[in-house]
Amino acid sequence: MKLTVLGATGSIGVSTLDVVARHPDRFEVVALTGHRQVEVLAAQCRRFRPAYAVVGSAADAQRLAGMLRDGGLRTEVLHGPDALSQVASLPEVDAVMAAIVGAAGLPPTLAAARAGKRVLLANKEALVMAGAVFMAEVRRAGALLLPIDSEHNAVFQSMPHDYAGDMAHSGVRRILLTASGGPFRSVPLETLTGVTPEQAVAHPNWVMGRKISVDSATMMNKGLEVIEAHWLFNAPADRIEVVIHPQSVIHSLVDYEDGSVLAQLGNPDMRTPIANALAWPQRIESGVAPLDLFAVGQLNFERPDLARFPCLDLAYRALRAEGNAAAVLNAANEVAVAAFLERRLSYLGVAELIAATLDAVPQAAVPDLAAVLEADRQGRAAALDLLVRRFGASSAQGPA
Ligand code: NAD
Ligand code: MG
Repeated sequence: MKLTVLGATGSIGVSTLDVVARHPDRFEVVALTGHRQVEVLAAQCRRFRPAYAVVGSAADAQRLAGMLRDGGLRTEVLHGPDALSQVASLPEVDAVMAAIVGAAGLPPTLAAARAGKRVLLANKEALVMAGAVFMAEVRRAGALLLPIDSEHNAVFQSMPHDYAGDMAHSGVRRILLTASGGPFRSVPLETLTGVTPEQAVAHPNWVMGRKISVDSATMMNKGLEVIEAHWLFNAPADRIEVVIHPQSVIHSLVDYEDGSVLAQLGNPDMRTPIANALAWPQRIESGVAPLDLFAVGQLNFERPDLARFPCLDLAYRALRAEGNAAAVLNAANEVAVAAFLERRLSYLGVAELIAATLDAVPQAAVPDLAAVLEADRQGRAAALDLLVRRFGASSAQGPA
């Protein structure tokens, strides 16, 4: 199988290449992309010898090309957003790992779907922003969409094999998405006022990129995943429930009409869902240690507290509002998280800024990609404006 890895230098990208390296007979890397981490990408190119490598800027492309030439590699170095879409839709590529973080991942992920590839979807923001448009393209092009997000991969594994998007017809009552609850699940509510970026990114069970780590602390990550599950499995909001499960051993569950509940379990290591989607419908070794239930000992469950995690409630509201609301939610969240990481916004300000942005941007339909990108632009503009005017952040530096 020939692969493009979008976001190869990130947490998911590195785990993907770890699985790929275990099966040199099975996988061949055609293209790797990284935004700014030129050294990491150069090392990955030396190891996997792709035909193409993509970076963000012309200057970085020149640097990378120089490094690769000195190493005797013939990898062609490209740069910019169009190059990402180009390597996601190359005719010789079978599967595309979509592991860019945030809205920047939408165009190339959509390009992979349009080209009818096997799309391994880690970039949940793409589906949150553009769910209807994205799923329509997947169907039209006959692409195979396989979820990498551990919860959705667990649901995918626990659903009927022939699931065709009709829960009632398949006897599925509910999808139960598990959540660890992050680092602030049980701290006193008063202490949340002073939370620092360092505390927020220190996740108890998973090692991940900074943005998704903050999303896990606020539980916006779970909110985005509720919306992601809605699109992947055609599940209405009231049939998707969130269950806090601090051990992160059960990755999610499917509750059937006959009373059966099927779940997927494993150690919290993204190489399991990555290997599952890379090899599907076969199973391959991933490097993940066997689950030791005796070491786990206990599996606990709690109902999420929406006063502690208002972002989860905001995501359900955006899903129910339909139209542009989820794209605006996602854009506001990206602005808020970046501002929080730059210490321009408090931890509690993250949910407040997103709520204010949802109130500020008028409702609209999103029939096509242009409308999705417009909703994203409006959400960002409104959030940046509110950040300065209502939340008192200086306008000197703009979030990346
Ligand atoms: P990360 O920050 O570690 O890596 C992000 C990757 O995207 C890097 O390769 C970076 O170079 C690239 N990138 C960033 N901005 C870009 C831009 N503007 N243009 C092009 N490329 C850009 O993030 P991650 O933790 O690997 O997460 C990647 C995606 O997978 C996210 O959507 C996240 O929600 C999802 N996800 C991650 C995990 C996890 O365990 N890390 C689990 C489930 C889902
Ligand atoms: Mg997840």
